[in-house]
Amino acid sequence: MNQDQIDRMREAGVKAREERKARGEKIERLTPAEKAKRNPNSRSLAVAHHCWDCSGQDADPKVNWRIGNCEIKDCALFLWRPHQRLFGVPLPKCLSADYDPLGRLVSPTVADR
Ligand code: SF4
Repeated sequence: MNQDQIDRMREAGVKAREERKARGEKIERLTPAEKAKRNPNSRSLAVAHHCWDCSGQDADPKVNWRIGNCEIKDCALFLWRPHQRLFGVPLPKCLSADYDPLGRLVSPTVADR
């Protein structure tokens, strides 16, 4: 998926939200934990919740990108993790200072301080 496709998806999402607002629907922003709690029989929401927890929730930006680019292939949920459409999408700029090109957290060494 390239940046154009991502931008189009984002625009479609904004348009859909505006249409829902225009119809008077209440729009809630739920965390994956809240979504899973409301739908306890959903396997995909349970996986999304677990990956969200595993990836540090939203403590750092772009949690969806980090889940989609997860490298833990031994994990039982690897093939079912959400956001796989973001696999291979270039590292978001907001992460580049803290993460290496593969999306792994780079901690400053003692020598860097
Ligand atoms: S697939 Fe990756 S992000 Fe999801 S639970 Fe496993 S290790 Fe964590």
